[in-house]
Amino acid sequence: MRHVVIIGSGPAGLTAAIYTARANLSPLLIEGWQSGGQLTTTTEVENYPGFAKGIMGPELMKDMRVQAERFGAEFLTGDVSAVNFKNRPFTLTIDGERTVEAQTAIVATGASAIPIGVPNEKRLTGHGVSTCATCDGFFFRGKELVVVGGGDSAMEEATFLTKFATKVSIVHRRDKLRASKIMQERAMKNEKIAFVWNSVVEDILGSDLVTGVRLKNVVTGKTTDLACAGVFVAIGHRPNTALFTGQLDMDEKGYIRTHKGTTTSVSGIFAAGDVQDSTYRQAITAAGTGCMAAIDAERFLEAGEREESGVKSC
Ligand code: NAP
Repeated sequence: MRHVVIIGSGPAGLTAAIYTARANLSPLLIEGWQSGGQLTTTTEVENYPGFAKGIMGPELMKDMRVQAERFGAEFLTGDVSAVNFKNRPFTLTIDGERTVEAQTAIVATGASAIPIGVPNEKRLTGHGVSTCATCDGFFFRGKELVVVGGGDSAMEEATFLTKFATKVSIVHRRDKLRASKIMQERAMKNEKIAFVWNSVVEDILGSDLVTGVRLKNVVTGKTTDLACAGVFVAIGHRPNTALFTGQLDMDEKGYIRTHKGTTTSVSGIFAAGDVQDSTYRQAITAAGTGCMAAIDAERFLEAGEREESGVKSC
């Protein structure tokens, strides 16, 4: 039986682990099979306070993990395959095999990249289609690439990919970018980056490897093929909440609803980070809500102890 089990190892989960470990709650963090969350697939993080010169995403996550371990947080590598939040103690099943019981749980499962949803995307994933420039950019030295999306992720991926590629075409469905000014300017100044406006990817071409994309101009309706060796999809993320369907209240987009800080619809279950935030979605806000969830869980446990010992809270 655990005081606190944390699900997820991004900035929210790891911050919750640091705080609950320092509060002597001996947290168990279930980190998935790929530890570190979305920041492990980004390059330089320039806006995380405290790092005046910036820090690489994977390094930031590694340091957060070491910091949590230093205070006694335990880590379990594996995926939570089922939860029962109907009764306390709560139960969590890991990889369909072992079960952990917990008095409180902090859900910090984050969000995952949204696919474009075109016919050959899945088949060519890993063969030219990617959602992670940091992971796969290296394989495209001297090639021409396409990045899909108009947000910060698309600008960041495209800018990073110019280290390897000879040309990067950003395909965006409108004629205005959603990305922040600084990211837009950086991409626009880059001579290797071209923009294909008002266009969507209708299909990805290639038998074994990507050879191009079929584009449709949404204004003229005209279809054209653009040759490229790789397609990087950066059109946003969706929350990883399928596991909690029927157990926790969610909004229409599948984000977990929280109130009074990080409290969910189930007393004793707290949610932090991108899994409950469709607005800000920053590493620093995820870390901030991870801290809040830890404090909320600690107070919840304290209130329970006071109740058991008959001491009334003031
Ligand atoms: P985002 O801001 O939601 O942008 C997604 C982009 O993809 C939008 O331009 C959107 O077009 C387009 N899109 C969505 N669905 C599409 C579809 N089916 N087909 C074609 N295009 C589609 O997502 P994001 O760029 O991943 O950023 C998420 C959050 O992380 C933001 O808050 C961002 O600021 C933050 N972030 C920050 C940094 C940084 O500061 N270093 C880096 C990356 C991300 P529309 O514009 O037409 O909606």
